[in-house]
Amino acid sequence: MTIAKESVVTMNYTLKNNEGEIIDTSEGREPLVYLHGVGALIQGLENELAGKSAGDKSQIVITPENAYGTRRDDLVRVVSKDGFQGEEELTEGMRVQLDTEHGPAIALVVKIDEAEVTLDLNHLLADMTLHFDVDITAVRAATAEEIAHGHVHGEGGHHH
Ligand code: ZN
Repeated sequence: MTIAKESVVTMNYTLKNNEGEIIDTSEGREPLVYLHGVGALIQGLENELAGKSAGDKSQIVITPENAYGTRRDDLVRVVSKDGFQGEEELTEGMRVQLDTEHGPAIALVVKIDEAEVTLDLNHLLADMTLHFDVDITAVRAATAEEIAHGHVHGEGGHHH
């Protein structure tokens, strides 16, 4: 069968940037198993995987617009250091979790001054063109329970 909404897909993948550096890979680990069509993967990748079947190997290139977006200057914010009191000591280059108006977000601590901290809330992979090598090893229909839960059960999936 081919990949469509409510397929359970098993695949090996390697993600590289424009320079060919490996950002993430399933090599040496369990393959990725996901429920297609519910937003488990970035939309650009799911769009390219639709219609493929087990045994297909492909190279997929996704522009930042269809992946994690472009960098936004307004996501670099200067905040008062007071908001971090009582938490672990801040250092430049560390990542902290924040509560924002859109829910929890991870921010990079760019700079620490006397009273202020500069945070960058851009996604780590913002501005990055993603190069995926994918090797689809299995495609099956999701069970009614998996569809109801919105995730895969059994091997490679959730256990509960
Ligand atoms: Zn479940």
